[in-house]
Amino acid sequence: MMKRYHGIPVSPGVAMGKALVLHSEDFFAVPKSQVGTEDIPREVVRFEEALTKTRADLVRIRKNIANKLGHEHSDIFSAHLLILEDRTLIEDVISKIKEEKVGAEYAFSLIIQRYFRAFSQIQDEYLRERVADIRDVGRRVMQNLLGKEKDSLIGLKEKVIVVAHDLAPTETAMMDREHVIAFVTDIGGPTSHTAIMARSLEIPAVVGLDTVSTDIVTGNQIIVDGHRGILIVEPDLATIENYSQQERRFVQLVSELDKLKSLPAETLDGHRIRLEANIEFPDEIPSVLAHGAEGIGLYRTEYFYMNRRDLPNEQEQYEAYRIVVEKLAPSPVIIRTLDLGGDKFLSFLDMPQEMNPFMGWRAIRFCLSEVEIFKTQLRAILRASVHGNLKVMYPMVSNVQEIRRANEILEQAKQELRNEQIAFDNQIDVGIMIEIPSAAITSDILSKEAKFFSIGTNDLIQYSLAVDRINPKIAYLYEPTHPAIIRLIRQVIENSKAAQIPTSVCGEMAADPGMAVLLLGLGIDELSMSPFALPTVKKAIRSVSFKDAQDFAKKATELTTGEEIKHFVKSRMKTILPELFEE
Ligand code: PEP
Ligand code: MG
Repeated sequence: MMKRYHGIPVSPGVAMGKALVLHSEDFFAVPKSQVGTEDIPREVVRFEEALTKTRADLVRIRKNIANKLGHEHSDIFSAHLLILEDRTLIEDVISKIKEEKVGAEYAFSLIIQRYFRAFSQIQDEYLRERVADIRDVGRRVMQNLLGKEKDSLIGLKEKVIVVAHDLAPTETAMMDREHVIAFVTDIGGPTSHTAIMARSLEIPAVVGLDTVSTDIVTGNQIIVDGHRGILIVEPDLATIENYSQQERRFVQLVSELDKLKSLPAETLDGHRIRLEANIEFPDEIPSVLAHGAEGIGLYRTEYFYMNRRDLPNEQEQYEAYRIVVEKLAPSPVIIRTLDLGGDKFLSFLDMPQEMNPFMGWRAIRFCLSEVEIFKTQLRAILRASVHGNLKVMYPMVSNVQEIRRANEILEQAKQELRNEQIAFDNQIDVGIMIEIPSAAITSDILSKEAKFFSIGTNDLIQYSLAVDRINPKIAYLYEPTHPAIIRLIRQVIENSKAAQIPTSVCGEMAADPGMAVLLLGLGIDELSMSPFALPTVKKAIRSVSFKDAQDFAKKATELTTGEEIKHFVKSRMKTILPELFEE
């Protein structure tokens, strides 16, 4: 019988096909095996050999992935190698073998499961998601101990949709795009590496589906709807036909949208805005260019600091920024300075546990007290600025003093480079993110100190509405269409126009074609989004006149609830762009 599940969409696209269920959870359920005292040295050696073999496997995989996807994705294997070198873990397993006289696989399974439990209970979402890395490494060691492959993704002969309790980032990175047409998991969040990787590989994916990996069996016919976060098991004929039609329309739409690639984001009556891309890794550039971005409106640099043991030095950062800037030249690239804190932490940096991390020692606040870390990044950005059109942007600004203090440190970095006779763009534009209500409300004051604004709606919504952006319990209150948000955005745009500086929106709101038309009508100059969202948004912009968009925005601002504005946007879009907005 047909069954429908709702989860979290993390990578768009629709796929229909047979399920391949990976049973990873019971992998560590190993029966207790008692050994004699004389066998203990042999068990210890078996364990050490499994570690050596796993190390060799990981080094080989890291090399392959670096060639295929670039160093940013392969660095995760360096993190995995570090887990393998964890002395406490190794010694715990060896003591277990010796003290309890048990087989190596049993001892290892007990200890690794203890690690899973400890990590799963960590409050911080980013660290909690690292349990997938430990599971991945654990599974490899176990495979080498048992000498068998289990439910492998290697050597697939037919197209499958992978179903798993959880997928390690390494498994996702190794997916063979030709045979794995989508994947779904029981757990996971949109900020996990697995989700980020799925978007980079453009594989449709839905996570957070609870119990699918136990409900579904290999061979079940399933449909994955990565746009809406839906999974359908054993669909009936009508549903298959419906999705086939949708898929055909989607494929047709994508190929039509591709034709817009080199056309401007211009309304029917000739009003033009810029559409740019958000990136986390330099190797997303081919996708940025393929989707016709006019620049990079947000380069989130914090991912560069993650999955490693230490801080990246100036030279490493310079090289990464330089690649991005050179490949995009002469189009602009906005590098956002480090936005740590909130839900993004570095395991090797001793950052205190806070009661309210999103309202705590985050982003520019962190950088202004960790001046050396900040200055190192600014020096790298300045050095890269001679290779193209680069701008710098400070996140989470809440007052004018923060901009001034950050600019002082930027000046110091410039002076140091001058003294060292290193070239940089002295006129580099400095902009700020508007993502805190105080910044939006005082944007007339801030506009005197910034060359551009970029509205971070993801945070602006959470701070204005007092709704934690990652708490599913109150997700219903997280309303991008709340009148308070529309008013704040309107106010920022008006103030930036008075100051003659451009404003963009780089939060998720920009990727929604209906909201993009609303923002256009409010007078936005630029929108920046995930590369795959660009063609649809461009299509929406090219389907309206500026006059109509202004009227659309005016009517929306007269409504009184988020729900009303949401429905209004949807119904208007059904007439503007029926092929995208019909049910
Ligand atoms: C935002 O807050 O809208 C934004 C773009 O920044 P981030 O999602 O990285 O916080
Ligand atoms: Mg933000």
